[in-house]
Amino acid sequence: MSEKRRIVVTSALPYANGDIHLGHLVEYIQTDFWVRFQKMRGNECVYVCADDTHGTPVMIRARAEGVTPEELIARSHAAHLKDFTDFEVAFDNYYTTNSPENKALSERIFSAAEKIGFITAKSSPQLYCTHCGMFLPDRYVKGTCPKCGSENQYGDSCDKCGATYGAEELGHPVCTTCGATPEVRDSEHLYFELEPQHDYLEKWIPAHTTSDISNKLLEWFKEPLRGWCISRDAPYFGFEIPGHPGKFFYVWVDAPIGYIASLSNWCAARGERLEDWWDNPDAELYHFIGKDIIRFHCLFWPGMLHAAGFKTPTKVFVHGFLTVNGEKMSKSKGTFVNARTYLDHLPASALRYYYACKLGGTTDDLDLNLQDFVTRVNSDLVGKITNLASRGAQMLNKPALGGALGALDEEGRTLVELAQSRAEAIAQHYEARRFSQVPVEVAKIADAANEYFDRREPWKTIKTDVEATRVTLTAILNVFRILAIYLKPILPAYAEKAAALFGESSWTWADAAKTLEGRPIGKYEYLATRIDAKQVEAMVEAAKVKPAESGEVSHESRASKNKAKAAEREPRATDNAFPLKPEIAFADFEKLDLRVGKVLSCETVPKSSKLLKFELDAGALGTRTIFSGIRGAYPDPAALVGKEVVFVANLAPRKMSVGVSEGMILFAGEPGVAGGVLAPFAEAGAGTPCT
Ligand SMILES: [Zn+2]
Ligand SMILES: [Zn+2]
Repeated sequence: MSEKRRIVVTSALPYANGDIHLGHLVEYIQTDFWVRFQKMRGNECVYVCADDTHGTPVMIRARAEGVTPEELIARSHAAHLKDFTDFEVAFDNYYTTNSPENKALSERIFSAAEKIGFITAKSSPQLYCTHCGMFLPDRYVKGTCPKCGSENQYGDSCDKCGATYGAEELGHPVCTTCGATPEVRDSEHLYFELEPQHDYLEKWIPAHTTSDISNKLLEWFKEPLRGWCISRDAPYFGFEIPGHPGKFFYVWVDAPIGYIASLSNWCAARGERLEDWWDNPDAELYHFIGKDIIRFHCLFWPGMLHAAGFKTPTKVFVHGFLTVNGEKMSKSKGTFVNARTYLDHLPASALRYYYACKLGGTTDDLDLNLQDFVTRVNSDLVGKITNLASRGAQMLNKPALGGALGALDEEGRTLVELAQSRAEAIAQHYEARRFSQVPVEVAKIADAANEYFDRREPWKTIKTDVEATRVTLTAILNVFRILAIYLKPILPAYAEKAAALFGESSWTWADAAKTLEGRPIGKYEYLATRIDAKQVEAMVEAAKVKPAESGEVSHESRASKNKAKAAEREPRATDNAFPLKPEIAFADFEKLDLRVGKVLSCETVPKSSKLLKFELDAGALGTRTIFSGIRGAYPDPAALVGKEVVFVANLAPRKMSVGVSEGMILFAGEPGVAGGVLAPFAEAGAGTPCT
């Protein structure tokens, strides 16, 4: 091997407002393959990532849950990291974009661009919700399409006619968070101008991406490049822009800067210098991203870096999306599977192996065919490869053979050398991210070994010629060992257990050239077991959308698929289906005593992020104290005072830690997310029964 390479690798930052799902994992798992391979080759490779924490969706969701954005992102960070760890994705640093390093770097990059005149300010009309006290991002407003008149369309484009427009052009606009009518206000925004780097970027893009990607991007270069709006108005969860009070960096500005911040944080913890890693001309820098965020990584990002005098990436590696059974992931079909749901039913190694089989290093979509998944794992990984170890080691550990490897005979040596001869070819596949070729190569060698095993019939010779059997098993186990080394980047935990079988650990790529003879092996511990179609069915069943199990049913998981959209995605009420409860008799309904109550007071409850305390005037029933878990829907609870609501008056009083609740207020929607209390359409008067 030549000189050690110094390599920095990133995966796109997952958005804090959502769970990790199998679609995300396509990226993290393949990045992890590549990084582990580089480390096995003896290169200095650092894999950094972080949670992407800023933006409107996080702010709104935190508000709705009655927690601070910091609390929300801390929770996401822990959950994301646990998911990644359990999928054997090993970051060298998994940080957060809401960090002091990121703030300092964002300010530094912005100020450098501003200094050379790449930042301009333009004023434009925007919708402002006085009730929410904020300018509304496009996806937080709905109204009538200015082109075709369709109702209920978002502020950026029309689902019906496909028109795109500015939110201020919508007819009858409504704030999707609170339902109020927003007003038009002028707001000044900052733009990062790309045109001064027209020529630079036009040359940069084809040199750092594949041609299918650069061809798409270069179409924009036929005209002057438009500036990129990089500011958002307060309130916004993010970093305020230096010298521009009330303006915040758009989440897509500080998200990629988060790569440098995470690396900087890693360097600081190890006494390394950032400039030896990021800005070192001898160090390589690679971003793994999905094809939906090309614009941010291949246009804006190199533009920002270059403007600020930072080194740009060596290459941007772009992959496709995940489909399941040939279709887009679907919540109703149970094919939109969260990482945790998968892990509840199936081993991480099976998915890693299957993804490896399907990843060819192109931007094509990857299909997870659930039937094929079961077949490949069982027939190849378990039946073909792992079987060599389980049959070979278990036989060698029989008393007659005493668990000791012998010497290779000529045929055995030829077989082992065949396996060893593929080391560089397989390494080239890893290097070029043609991961799918690795299981193909490994299976070919395993086929030859299985053929040898069957021909030598060790299960027969063990009764007649113990030493001949030992020779056979020595070849089989040596071949298996080499294959496990080749698979180590894909199946790290599997490889570590396999290494232990041979009394080894921490295999490097060079270990494949060794041959083990005349030494004992350890006890065989299971490496991979067959998976059952029933496990897959159970996973799909569990992934199907169900009614709210808690206050935090999520609109988030689909948002997380595409950060570009997620950044400004709406907290639309969930598209979860609520199955109908069992039918009840009229007599059951009659048991309910629903009344109108007039809100005398409504206030937050100390230490509770969910509860509101209501005092209701219940007419003839007197006053009622009711605790209701709907704080998320009412950032300003006092606004409910004087309003009429509907409540269950004959519910048994319930003792809670904060007091006794004397009834239940009816609410439409998801308490933690969106919705409102039920109220009579016309003023009814306190205590009026509802029938
Ligand atoms: Zn509003
Ligand atoms: Zn339209």
